Amino acid sequence: MMRRIEGGCHCGNIRFEFELPEPDGAIAVRACGCSFCQKHGGVYTSHPAGKLAARIADVSETERYRFGTATADFHICRACGVVPFVTSEIDGALYAVVNVNSFEGDDELESSPSDFDGETVDSRLVRRQRNWIPEVTIETVAG
Ligand SMILES: [Zn+2]
Repeated sequence: MMRRIEGGCHCGNIRFEFELPEPDGAIAVRACGCSFCQKHGGVYTSHPAGKLAARIADVSETERYRFGTATADFHICRACGVVPFVTSEIDGALYAVVNVNSFEGDDELESSPSDFDGETVDSRLVRRQRNWIPEVTIETVAG
């Protein structure tokens, strides 16, 4: 049994469907403590058996922002400024986390704050491979 969650940016340029095994209770979410997400109020979730299908209407109206270790791409809508998801390419595979603030439903969420500052790049990538959404497709319509 899978739960399907729809979300996207504010203007609708970036849309996604996130599927995850039906949770027992609330969906665990994590307020990211990195300097970018502190400024954006980014709160994310993922699932190692989940699936993310994103659709971008106009890719020229989007930006991929990197900083720090430059191992993650923050997908930003240039029209409305929302960051619906973040991807990381590890050993040729794409992994993702989704921003729960861009969900359109009213799924029950439970936050578990964490801070990964000080983590080495290697252990960061291993953690992402273990926890992030392993099946990611990004379809672009134009641009
Ligand atoms: Zn937008």
